[in-house]
Amino acid sequence: MRRKLAAGNWKMNGTSAELARLTTLAESHGSAGCDVLICPPATLLSRAAEALSGSAIAVGGQDCHGATSGAHTGDISAGMLKDAGASHVILGHSERRADHGEGDALVRTKSEAAIAAGLTAVICLGESLSERDAGQTLDVIGTQLEGSTPDGASGARVVIAYEPVWAIGTGKVPTTDQIGEVHDFIRTGLTRRFGAEAGDAIRILYGGSVKPGNAAEIFAVSNVDGALVGGASLKPEDFGPIIDAL
Ligand code: 13P
Repeated sequence: MRRKLAAGNWKMNGTSAELARLTTLAESHGSAGCDVLICPPATLLSRAAEALSGSAIAVGGQDCHGATSGAHTGDISAGMLKDAGASHVILGHSERRADHGEGDALVRTKSEAAIAAGLTAVICLGESLSERDAGQTLDVIGTQLEGSTPDGASGARVVIAYEPVWAIGTGKVPTTDQIGEVHDFIRTGLTRRFGAEAGDAIRILYGGSVKPGNAAEIFAVSNVDGALVGGASLKPEDFGPIIDAL
């Protein structure tokens, strides 16, 4: 049985003033019935880990470099994230694929680095609106899944997040049938590649305009094992009810 996961991606939002929100969340949902993860900007990682210590809420990064150290100005290694208190790292988010030209091979390298450092890689996949309109959704997701996921993936070390690019920050959400189709397709791909046991243990999150008002409906879809939440994760009064819906 896969344990559900509510993951919050703060993206490029949050300074020390917002750390109090984590304390609030820890007070209300510090021992929820599902796993809870917050991925603040790297500048807040260690303080976020401190604010959440003593609660069951985990902390993660939003990206890492594929190398362990070296001449990579501005980059952060997986080991550094771990050292700052992270247990997870989001990789291959569509905003990084778009803003920084990240492709599947690079995302896979980063995932391997994350796992080698002892982190769990939250690997993001998602089609654009034009790809969906052209009927290419499953082809795109299949290619991203195959190319971005490292060999030997396990439920403990890999989480997949399906985030349709057109649903991120737009208030547009796919129908539950559309979500179910992609999640079932990802599950089949995972079990085919990693075997029935490992493939079945890997959690598949949905992300894109998840709000308190639509969370329960989305979480009822087969093979939806939780959510990767952007905007609504910034406020405990929104993220709390999403956690409760799991
Ligand atoms: P929103 O929840 O703001 O649509 O963002 C989703 C997302 O990109 C999470 O990684």
